[in-house]
Amino acid sequence: MGLALLPASAALAQDATPGPWPQALQVPGGVARLALGPAPERPVVHAGDIPVLVLGDASAWTAIVGIPLAAPVGQAHVSVQATDGAPARRIAYQVAAKKYREQRLNVAPRTVDLSPEDQARYERERDHQQRVMATFSTPLPADALRMRQPVPGRRSSSFGLRRVFNGQARNPHSGMDIAAATGTPVVAPLPGRVIDVGDYFFNGGTVWLDHGGGLLSMYCHLSGVDCAVGEQLATGQAFCRVGATGRVTGPHLHWGVMLNRSMVDPALFLPA
Ligand SMILES: [Zn+2]
Repeated sequence: MGLALLPASAALAQDATPGPWPQALQVPGGVARLALGPAPERPVVHAGDIPVLVLGDASAWTAIVGIPLAAPVGQAHVSVQATDGAPARRIAYQVAAKKYREQRLNVAPRTVDLSPEDQARYERERDHQQRVMATFSTPLPADALRMRQPVPGRRSSSFGLRRVFNGQARNPHSGMDIAAATGTPVVAPLPGRVIDVGDYFFNGGTVWLDHGGGLLSMYCHLSGVDCAVGEQLATGQAFCRVGATGRVTGPHLHWGVMLNRSMVDPALFLPA
């Protein structure tokens, strides 16, 4: 499928590089890091009506903003709530163009032209997952959001690809695929709490983790789940297994990372 592979030495070579993570990349599917300046209390920031993660301390706060894949190119903004009753302050930033390639895949026809029953199932699951995605919890994650790769293996650079399944255009690819054999244990990339476990039409066996402050991660096409909703996981703790369930062409981990309900490129959280 045209995977762009990183040499094995790249991860080690980059480990000494100072942060910050996630890296800023102001494109659709990227992340903006917006300096908010000093303030005695953590500022409350929204993108539209969606709360945004704010990290730092009283000497300097930073908003970590997920930019949706569907974001228009040009100026975007967040609003910073005032503490003294004054109007909210707007902070503008620029979203640059990024041209994502097209990827054509052949999958089981029933996963592209859905039967009425499968369509109804998909719609129920979509509504459920939208509720999962709205999670915004405390405590907030620590300032260092450098993630551990959840399975060893070759990372594809397939985030954002415009997808054509069996000749029909579908939503862009909103995660990173990592090649690994069925049964390979998947580990938590950061401390997190299990907030959803399911078996979904497109995503197959799926687990969602909540890392706090609207930073979520999802793991799809699993062959097995070794955790339960509510469980707290430490970085590196195994909680599920790679598989080939749902709409896939073969076994791999689909890994998604979400900030303020926007799927962003997981590579921005990894050291290389
Ligand atoms: Zn994928």
